[in-house]
Amino acid sequence: MQRVRILGTGGTIAGEAASETASRYRSAEIGVGPLIAAVPGVRSLAILHGEQFSQTGSQDMSDILWCSLAARINALFNAGEADGVVVTHGTDTAEETGYFLHLCIDSRNPVVLTGAMRPANSLSADGPLNLYNAVAVAADRNAHGRGVIVVINDDLHCARDVTKGNTTDVHAFVSPGPGLLGTASFGKVRYFRTPSRCHTADSEFLMDNMTRLPRVDILYAYTGMSTDCVRDSVSNGARGIVVAGLGNGNVPISIAHALADAAASGVIVVRSTRVGSGEVARGIEVDDDALGFVAADQLNPQKSRVLLQLCLAHGKDRSAIQDAFYRY
Ligand code: ASP
Repeated sequence: MQRVRILGTGGTIAGEAASETASRYRSAEIGVGPLIAAVPGVRSLAILHGEQFSQTGSQDMSDILWCSLAARINALFNAGEADGVVVTHGTDTAEETGYFLHLCIDSRNPVVLTGAMRPANSLSADGPLNLYNAVAVAADRNAHGRGVIVVINDDLHCARDVTKGNTTDVHAFVSPGPGLLGTASFGKVRYFRTPSRCHTADSEFLMDNMTRLPRVDILYAYTGMSTDCVRDSVSNGARGIVVAGLGNGNVPISIAHALADAAASGVIVVRSTRVGSGEVARGIEVDDDALGFVAADQLNPQKSRVLLQLCLAHGKDRSAIQDAFYRY
């Protein structure tokens, strides 16, 4: 049997409500031991070992926790202490943590993130089956080399492509564009594809000796957007700005000028989109070459921020960063 380490970080999967039908609850209340104990049959899938890594709602995840989580998983694999890892995580920022790990884990072994939309003691809690399927994927040799996988609601998503698309539905996660990586049904796993972009063992972004990431702000574009936020970001020390742009990464002309000034001063400006799916390509309505911008290609703003932080931490210049957005 494969050895699977389950790292608990908190979230709604570890949440507790006042009663089975109460919608109000507190996340990150239940430890990883009781979470595993609540899943019938899961110990027949793998040799399991639970470890409480942190205990927080994922709205409180941080670059410090990301770096130490990646270092912990790399250490488990390097020491040969686990064949696969499951991270139980809040759903709010699972896509960001997942993409960070997708770029920073130096192994082809499976790393799986799972969570839940309903607290552990709710009527029809979704956490136990999600955890069961997550362990099945982490213990599956066919998962090797597919990067970090988010397993939730019987679906397997590539951590690069997945995004939270609904605030409350148990079918909260989607992978717009590339689609699902596979499915899991009571531990029976099917794969539809292998991620084509660079990740995990092929990625250049090892973070084990780093504890912080450079400041990168996300600015949300809208009709009548003011340039104040661009100036605030720059004067508060942001080394990068991701703009959640309109349509194909467009911004009002005044914002384009403010961002061009920021780029000229050495801040890396990445144009992503607030739309939720599709690519942001170079030079369509915005002259990226003249203004000094990077186009996010397929990454949404929050994932663009993760990649830009890693690029800046590794000292890449603007053209190397554009290249990274095409390769990762
Ligand atoms: N706020 C919670 C979290 O992200 C929501 C969840 O887990 O579903 O930790």
